[in-house]
Amino acid sequence: MYRKTMAVMLTAGLILSPVSFSANAASSTSNNPSDHAFDNKVIKKIKVDNMYDNIALLSKQPRVAGTEGEYEAVQYIKNQFEEYGYDTELQPFTMYDWDPGVSTLSIEGGDFTGDTRSFYASANESVTSQLEFVGLASPEEVSEDVKGKIALIERGQYTFYEKIENVLEKGAIGVVMYNAEGQSGNNFGSVYLGQDIPAIALTREDGLELVERLQNKEITATLSVENANFVAKTSYNVIAKKEPHPNKDNGQIVTVGAHHDSVPNGPGANDDASGVAATLELARILAKTPTDTELRFVTFGAEERGLLGSYHYADTLSDEEIENSVAHFQLDMVGSKDAGDLIMFTPDGEKNLVTDIGASAGARISEVVDYGQLGRSDHVPFFEKGIPSALFIHAPFEPWYHSPEDTLDKISKEKLQNVAEIVGASVYQIARPDTPALENSNVAPSPADYDFDYRPL
Ligand SMILES: [Zn+2]
Repeated sequence: MYRKTMAVMLTAGLILSPVSFSANAASSTSNNPSDHAFDNKVIKKIKVDNMYDNIALLSKQPRVAGTEGEYEAVQYIKNQFEEYGYDTELQPFTMYDWDPGVSTLSIEGGDFTGDTRSFYASANESVTSQLEFVGLASPEEVSEDVKGKIALIERGQYTFYEKIENVLEKGAIGVVMYNAEGQSGNNFGSVYLGQDIPAIALTREDGLELVERLQNKEITATLSVENANFVAKTSYNVIAKKEPHPNKDNGQIVTVGAHHDSVPNGPGANDDASGVAATLELARILAKTPTDTELRFVTFGAEERGLLGSYHYADTLSDEEIENSVAHFQLDMVGSKDAGDLIMFTPDGEKNLVTDIGASAGARISEVVDYGQLGRSDHVPFFEKGIPSALFIHAPFEPWYHSPEDTLDKISKEKLQNVAEIVGASVYQIARPDTPALENSNVAPSPADYDFDYRPL
């Protein structure tokens, strides 16, 4: 789960919809044991210990995109898919890390003793001028006084882009920004394309000290950024494919996906070794099951860097593949003991084939699954290509989200089992060769009544 575009829906507040359906009520053939029998071919084969053991293995170290940790995970995942009998491909793609280089700030010719770090995409340049404090750099706060000067800015309220744009418009030649209230360190900040300016970040304490000194007298500063640069790295998607039964091929493609990369400061047991483990387990049990649909199991790299792997994968799909793709199931953070209930998120907050089938499978297996609106994971590029897709996740998130505490001991086997059953049954409902003919028979799964949920994260 990627953090950057944080929670649009949070402002909508908490409106928990009542669970309007029990497992039995969801089906017109209520209490009919054959209802469950529809799914048994898949769900009886799920072995939760396989998933748990794979999470244990994958979460031994962080799996940051472009690092050895990711590459080891990728090799392991590829080997597993191959062992199950899949045609498996490593799909490399280039991503860019920021090397902040060397930055310095000197005040009145003396060395500034605080820590400096260049903004992402800062210009490499040295400028000497007066320091001008412009508060949060809103349009009201930035005047012509900043022309030809180095703007001292407080982080917060406005985006980096807006703040830098506001001072650039008035002719500033450098940016020194200190951290927002309650934020520690100075690892933040981005300069955007076309904003050609040297920019550095300071801790809040160092910034406030400069603000105080400016109240008494003018300060001449030299701001210098050197050797800051983009460094090309390689991340990977792992793609496993299974052709349908040759006599039954209906031309359709169903994808199940998870992201194998983690954030740098945590082992990512739930985020998203859990989704990878569930994807592997579903691949294992469906490997030898005849289907009329092509199945693809994909683990994505660089999700935490902004869905880079899934965008790359989606961009490699031909028009025909996009046309034939009927469903994408994304599994992200599906095993935490400390998170809320299962929910299906779509980027537009609308139901689609995936949520319809997922809600119905949930109703048969445990309880109906509600849906909500959220992007922030690898279902987004599929959605943008017009492929029905949903993110299966537990919300609210666990407190260990993106922290070093996202470890194996927080994983619930019950939750893993439940999600694997629901997604496995859903995939198989589409892919089993006896559908859609079975749809009219009395053992066919019935649609479930499921609700939109303004679920807090
Ligand atoms: Zn995440």
